[in-house]
Amino acid sequence: MSRYLLPALQELTPYVAGEQPATEVVKLNTNESPYPPSPRVLRAAKEAVDHLHLYPDAGAKALRLSIAKHYGLRPENIFTANGSDEVLGFSFLAFADGDHPITMPDISYAFYPVYAKLFRVSPRIIPLNEDLTLPVDKFMNVGTMVVFANPNAPTTLPITIDEVEKIVKSNPDHVVLVDEAYVDFGGQTALPLLDRYDNLLIVRTFSKSRALAGARLGYAMGHPALIADLEKVRNSFHPYNVNRVTMAAGIEAMEDVAYFEECTKKIIAQREETIAELRALGFVVPQSATNFVYVKHPKLSGQAYYEGLRERGIITRYWNVERIADYVRISIGTRMQMRKMMLATRAILASVKE
Ligand SMILES: *Cc1c(COP(=O)(O)O)cnc(C)c1O
Repeated sequence: MSRYLLPALQELTPYVAGEQPATEVVKLNTNESPYPPSPRVLRAAKEAVDHLHLYPDAGAKALRLSIAKHYGLRPENIFTANGSDEVLGFSFLAFADGDHPITMPDISYAFYPVYAKLFRVSPRIIPLNEDLTLPVDKFMNVGTMVVFANPNAPTTLPITIDEVEKIVKSNPDHVVLVDEAYVDFGGQTALPLLDRYDNLLIVRTFSKSRALAGARLGYAMGHPALIADLEKVRNSFHPYNVNRVTMAAGIEAMEDVAYFEECTKKIIAQREETIAELRALGFVVPQSATNFVYVKHPKLSGQAYYEGLRERGIITRYWNVERIADYVRISIGTRMQMRKMMLATRAILASVKE
């Protein structure tokens, strides 16, 4: 640290991204799609490479139109950015500051409190219920901006659209940001509420269900006035935030519905199989609405399970944080990857019982 860094940022603890190991491992640590992008996406991306000497469209018109059409919206309802992390960053920057706090759950996407600190926003933290569900009533009438993920991560648990509506409706003077990173795997989207609430901002990513984590693409859907606010901030910071190759890939990923549905279906089926197998071994597994599972075992600490898997070449995620230190988060991979994960799990359990 130099002596020039702002005092406000000296205590900042950055978000720690899941590792991207170089060696041959079973990578189940960052909830990516285990499947490659569709052939249509690859073709479009390669074509776009030929034009890399030109800036991309700063208004992302074609991409926004493609997303809007898919959901029956207008391009004015769509904001695009360099991953949904950047959408979140612009949202914090636009709607919160030292005088305008954000209410968020204690256990959720670990980036929310990091952005809060970076942008000098004081977070108001509301603990999840004992069973890790979201205490909906405690998010009503809070009088601040609200941020939560639905389904929540890493807990995998969703709330219903009626519960989301309660939160949105009871906070009419503040933005309610619903991070739907995993909604394609089983959650209920808040989309039907969009035309009734001008304070609802739905954030999505291409990184999970659309198999484009490496391209960095995320978007928000909301009332045109909210989107215009985000555009104002974006164009005051980086108008070319979505590059040309990613834009082309994103449009095709949106339009290749058949491929998207096939991959999503396979991941959900694999998730259900994995949950059943883990429960049969005595694991406690909340019913996931995402592309990962969150698991604990009465005979195994979270750290021991995580390290045991790691020694056997299976990379997952574990947080040594109060209330959740017993849990390990495991992304759903291909059938072969999950088979290796289950084999390793059986071996770990066998060694514990000795
Ligand atoms: C993965 C994830 C993101 C970030 O997605 P990117 O588009 O890759 O930046 C945002 N929110 C949640 C809850 C996530 O799990």
